[in-house]
Amino acid sequence: MLFRRMPARAPLRADAVSPSPPGAMQPGRRGLLALACACCLGGGAISPAQAQAPDVAAHLAAARAAAGEDLKPWRALGQAATPTNAPRPSLQSLIDQPAPPPARAFDNLAFVGGKWVSAWALATSDGIILVDALNNDAEAAALIGGGLPKLGLDVAQVRRIVVTHGHGDHYGGWAWVKGRSGAPVAMSATDWAMLETAPEFDNPLWGRPPVREVVLADGDLVRLGEASVTVLSTPGHSPGTISLLFDVREGGRTHRALLWGGTSFNFNRRPDRMARIAAYIEGTRRAKQVAARENVTVMLSNHAGFDEADLKLARLGAAGGNPFVIGQAAVQRTLTVIEESALATQAAWRS
Ligand SMILES: [Zn+2]
Repeated sequence: MLFRRMPARAPLRADAVSPSPPGAMQPGRRGLLALACACCLGGGAISPAQAQAPDVAAHLAAARAAAGEDLKPWRALGQAATPTNAPRPSLQSLIDQPAPPPARAFDNLAFVGGKWVSAWALATSDGIILVDALNNDAEAAALIGGGLPKLGLDVAQVRRIVVTHGHGDHYGGWAWVKGRSGAPVAMSATDWAMLETAPEFDNPLWGRPPVREVVLADGDLVRLGEASVTVLSTPGHSPGTISLLFDVREGGRTHRALLWGGTSFNFNRRPDRMARIAAYIEGTRRAKQVAARENVTVMLSNHAGFDEADLKLARLGAAGGNPFVIGQAAVQRTLTVIEESALATQAAWRS
């Protein structure tokens, strides 16, 4: 196990989101929205002097160098190491942003998400594996139910609802999808347990949590038709976050994709935050090794503010190839940005 089960604790409100960082780490509005995972309750616990500690600065510089110009949105993760009291968007305002049009990023992978939180539909010969179910029934009906038919698909074809982690922006619309497809909901045992005992976040804008159906563990394969999705444990963002590895196809070409299941360091008011950030770092390092070994060239997120899915979808068909295929080196750099941002945050919390 890469993580230990979290003790029960009182749920927190999730209507606040992470503050923006100062100076060079300012991520801009897109980055702020990316980090504004409803489950992201950024800090205020670190003084500016502490935030300037040399080891923090060194890790942030390493994250910045790895990001370069092309991976800038991921740098927003550095916010957790350098919190400020900047205004925070409300969950309602995040949900209310106009959604990008549904589109196929690849022949077998459709984006049916919102501007803020994503849902991905992996189409197979035997139906659809849906990854995440958005905030609530209304959003699922509009974006998943409304989006799939525009791409020649239908919600009734969904056979599995895989939830990357037990936060409401990712499971909230499960009941609407299940009601029209009968598909079971799959999540890690740790996040099922978290939802059953003490959900670490809740918000009335989210659908109620699902009840335990399929339990996914590290190394499991979710098989449907010709597709096989490998489950990778990447805990930290939630106690039992999972990331997913699968093949995407375009014409005659196949690419290996990694969908990062939970990104922000949203646990910095929790007594176990050092264990969480350590587990996050360990999981990220292992994911880097797996991604190198499997030649992962596509890095996806469940928040478009990180992978810029909406912007890439708009660029599909333009010269230069599929913008989602960033190459193995860029995928490795993305994971380095995540790792170094986590190390900076760990160093800030230690100081
Ligand atoms: Zn989350």
